[in-house]
Amino acid sequence: MSITPARRTPPARRARRVLAPVLGLASLALVAGASTAPTAVAAPDGDGAALKDLPAYSPRLDERQPSDRRFTTARESCSDAPRELPVNEFTDHRELGVELDRIERVSEGRVDVEEIGRSNRGREIWSARVGTGDTVVMLVSEIHGNEKVGTEAVLDLLEWVGTRETAKAKRWRDELTIVAVPKMNPDGAELDRRGNDQTWSEVTARFPQLRGSEEAWNYYDTPRTGDDYAAAPGFDTNRDFNPDLDYFPRAEDFPGSSEETGWYITPEARTVRDLYRGLTAEFGEVDTYVDLHHQGACYVMPDDPDEFVTMSISGQFVADPATKPEYAEYAADYDLDYSKRLNVAVNRSLQAAAADRPLFGNITLYPQDIDLPGTALGSFALNGSGAVLFEIRGQTQTLGQRYRAVLTRAAYLGLDGMLSSIASGQVDRLDPAEYDAIPPRGPSIGSARAADEDARVLRQQQRD
Ligand SMILES: [Zn+2]
Repeated sequence: MSITPARRTPPARRARRVLAPVLGLASLALVAGASTAPTAVAAPDGDGAALKDLPAYSPRLDERQPSDRRFTTARESCSDAPRELPVNEFTDHRELGVELDRIERVSEGRVDVEEIGRSNRGREIWSARVGTGDTVVMLVSEIHGNEKVGTEAVLDLLEWVGTRETAKAKRWRDELTIVAVPKMNPDGAELDRRGNDQTWSEVTARFPQLRGSEEAWNYYDTPRTGDDYAAAPGFDTNRDFNPDLDYFPRAEDFPGSSEETGWYITPEARTVRDLYRGLTAEFGEVDTYVDLHHQGACYVMPDDPDEFVTMSISGQFVADPATKPEYAEYAADYDLDYSKRLNVAVNRSLQAAAADRPLFGNITLYPQDIDLPGTALGSFALNGSGAVLFEIRGQTQTLGQRYRAVLTRAAYLGLDGMLSSIASGQVDRLDPAEYDAIPPRGPSIGSARAADEDARVLRQQQRD
């Protein structure tokens, strides 16, 4: 993919003109492929080539598109079986550097980009900070390298808040300090896979006290979800967090498990931990922490098995520390109600947009009966941050870049509603009970569920 400073910004008039023929071709391809293609999600991009070049802050993406029926309808078969699909439309690591430079420049320095660390293979991990407010919101994307839509939404959001002179943008800048890590796991992102790129012997070289202990449970060194971890092992960095921000790895804490805390053995998790700790020192607390993920492609709405879920959200990742002795020290700071109100703001924004484009309304709650203190969200929620999980539909091994534009807009709308609500103070007046009324996720109708690694881990945990 070629790099140009002006990313996906074709003139709107040209975009409008090519819309009809592109959709026509897509429909033809769908009809032609219907009898041969076993999996609906492998069909050509139905999102409209013109619309997908719009930035996610464009309200034109809120208009209903003829192809939306294909996105939502679950009448066709759906598969979570991993496949090789193009991802070139997503912003890769090198392009991210170019794009962040551009945003810093066009925002005249309002967006401040910084290298905050390096991945295990030496790639820069960048943060982008904008706003001068007292309320800190961290936005982290691509902690799993095959979950890429959040990165696009965050970039568009940084550009919008950094360049606009509207009352809303000014309020955000005055009230908030937004600190984004658009691509937390660049090695995994370049490999288009979940885990990072790090061997156990690299861990023990850095932490010699772990020599002879068992390998971490979240170490992947055998093939999974279509990726060859045998050739290039790695860790699920989103199980490497610990609510004790000063934790140092101890041999007796391995191999661990999904319901136990992690260790900060990956440089990527340490980088985000250091950023969080630095912001806590600077501001007293990180008000809100958002992690942007993707889930399986084939979940349906609980009340309508013919409609796919666009996104699941959540504010609950750990058992209530008041009920678990080993978390007792975090009980005073933990604020589940605040996390719920933040999620309510996300949901309200998407439900409002659903009036014009119904697929934005297909929002469900991620499973609530989980206890994952080794996730970034779990660890930071225990430290008192309001926590928000986005689980956008379909990882790259099942959807590729097929619905990039519409899913980026969905993530953008959710972030926009949440940030506006924090900046205006409305979030404090929202009712946590509204969170509990968000429908639970329906079942996955996928013919192969193995690709949804989070679901596999959850099932395992529920069996334990
Ligand atoms: Zn994920």
